[in-house]
Order: sequence, then C-alpha cells, then structure tokens
Amino acid sequence: MSDPPALFEIKLREGESITGRVYAEGKPLLLPTPAEVAAVMATLQPANRAAIQQAYGKYGLPRRVVAAPLSLGEQKYGVLVLEGLGETAAFTADDVPFVQALAQLLSLALDRRRLEEEAATFRQTRETDRLRAEVMATLSHELRTPLAAIKGYSTALLLDEIEWPDEKRREFLRLIDEECDNLQLMIGEILDSALIDVGQLEMEPEPLRLPRLAREVADEMQHLTERHRFALDFPAAFPIVEADPRRIRQVLRNILDNAIKYSPAGGLVVIRGKVRPADVVISIADQGVGISPEDLIPLFEKYFRVKAPTGYHVPGTGLGLPVSRAIVEAHGGHIWAESKVGEGTTLSFSLPVGKNCGD
Ligand code: ADP
Repeated sequence: MSDPPALFEIKLREGESITGRVYAEGKPLLLPTPAEVAAVMATLQPANRAAIQQAYGKYGLPRRVVAAPLSLGEQKYGVLVLEGLGETAAFTADDVPFVQALAQLLSLALDRRRLEEEAATFRQTRETDRLRAEVMATLSHELRTPLAAIKGYSTALLLDEIEWPDEKRREFLRLIDEECDNLQLMIGEILDSALIDVGQLEMEPEPLRLPRLAREVADEMQHLTERHRFALDFPAAFPIVEADPRRIRQVLRNILDNAIKYSPAGGLVVIRGKVRPADVVISIADQGVGISPEDLIPLFEKYFRVKAPTGYHVPGTGLGLPVSRAIVEAHGGHIWAESKVGEGTTLSFSLPVGKNCGD
C-alpha cells in the first residue's frame, strides 16, 4: 500500500462497504471477482472512498476479498479482511472456513485481552477503595485520640461528686486546650490536603522577614515543651522574601512540631537561616529519633508515617510534610530532609529571593 496511515482517516458506518457489512451482519463474506468487490464498496461515503484510494495508491482497489467477523458471543471486536490486490490466485468458497477459523482465534485472543484489562481495572478500583478505607480508618483513629482526651478531662471536671483542687482544674483545662489545638491542626491538614488535591491552595505573598517569623514560632513552641530548647542562627543581613506569612508560619510550625514530637527525650532544636545567591534556606535540626534512609524516600508522600516501635505512638495524620512541601513548592522553593537514626533529623526548605533583597 502506498499510504497506509490514510486508512486511519476512515470512519465507517455499520453496513458501509465490506468491513461495515460483515461487522453488521456477523457473517463471513466472499467476493471473488472485482465486479462484486466494487459493488459492495459502492456504499462507501465519499470521504472514506478518497482515503481508501489514497491508501491503496498505485495498487488500485482490491480485486477479490474474503472477510470474517471478529466476534465472540455478543462481543464484537472488528472484522478480518483478506484482500487480493493484483492478478494473483483468487479466493474460493474453500478459503472461507480457514479465514473464519483464523478470525475465531483472533477473537479469542482479543477477548482474553479484554477480560484481563477488565480484571485489572476491577483490581485497581478495589485497591483504591481499600486504600481509601485504610486512610479513613487511620485518620479517624488519629482524630479520636485527642477527642477522647478532651471528653475524658471535661467529664472529670463535670463530676458533681468530686471537688477538684484549683491546680488540677487548671491542668485539665490546659490539657483540653492543648488537645483542641491538636485536633484543629489535624483537621486543618486534612482540609489543606484536599485543597492541594484540587489545586486550590492559594498563596498570598507579601514581604516577609523570616528571622522574625522563626523567632515567633520558636517562642510559641517553647511554651509547649520543657524538654526541648530552641536556638536561632540567622546571619545579620537576611534578605526579605516574598511569601505568604500564614502559610510559611504553618510550615515552620509543622516542622518544629515534628522536631518536638519525634525527639521524645528532648534536646536542642536549631533553626538556621542561610543565604545563597538565588534563595535562602531555613533548616531545622533536632536531636531526635532520626529517620532511616529507606523511610526518607517516601517522607513527603501523603499519609506516610514511619512505623514506630510498638508501645510508642505519636499522634499525627501523615499530612504535615506533604502539605508543607506543597506550600514551599507553591512559593518556588524546595523542601528536603537529612537524617541519621538515633542522632537526629534536619528538615530544610528554600525560598527564592526576589527583588526585595538586602534587609
Ligand atoms: P505526622 O507527623 O502527622 O505523622 P508528617 O507528614 O509531618 O506527619 O511526618 C511524616 C512522618 O515523618 C512522621 O510520621 C514521622 O514518622 C516522620 N518525621 C517527620 N519529622 C520527623 C523528625 N523531625 N524526626 C523523625 N521523624 C520525623
């Protein structure tokens, strides 16, 4: 054939020409003479005829044809068409059973392929449903933990028969307050993650002084822990960046919160600022449990949480780091982690420096 791609232009209707007719009737067709072939091909629409003429080029139209449907039961796959173009041997009625058998073999192969694809789609849907159910179960469990604490402390405070000393009352109220913050944080992460999925996490950048923001967040965190100490290390001239203060605060909070959560023995948390030619890097180093090299790979994936040793559970959604990554990347920056098990983790993120440099 001189231009086979032209065949892809053809859009046959059912019943049109040889293929359309065999497809519609579901029966083999033998056209042993050029005249018979031409008669059936006369039903071609003009555009399809032009495409066929272009495809066959100098060979002209087929002179004899035998065709059989490719189908199995109700399932129609297409038509097998054998054409004689030159003066070569003709097709006879004896050839039809062979072509039919060949078409049946092809149909079986196509049917098997279809069933395999259907089974794969089914398995994939089941796997997606299973993963979704697993995520929902984990998230619900994580949300229930602070809720159970809030319920427990408030029920205790409401007990008529116990007169709690002021100090105890205050402690319970502080714990309720803390667990409410945890709950709020987790719900916020779930919501942000959903917004990221639909591309609707919006940034409102403005000139931002990172050293000041880091100081504020560190002070805020210091109120939550006595075991940890926070230190800041920023060069005196630190560029102002264009960034969304609320969102970058969220990133810092999340990384510092992790630094506390995953350093159960306490320790020093250092927040360092570094200036590079095109961007600034903020890194937060802790002296916590660390992360193994294989867990560092999926660290920023949604819902990923390092499997903690039994008997040691740290609440969380596994969404903090993916949300932080989305925020940093929305600013044109990067986020990464370095860690050594038993020694600690350093989480770093970069933010590009625009025109407003030189504070
Ligand atoms: P969450 O803290 O809610 O589980 P994140 O997305 O913030 O979710 O963190 C994902 C996982 O990464 C955590 O469950 C934890 O296993 C690990 N991780 C994060 N930060 C640290 C850190 N500073 N030290 C050790 N492990 C960490």
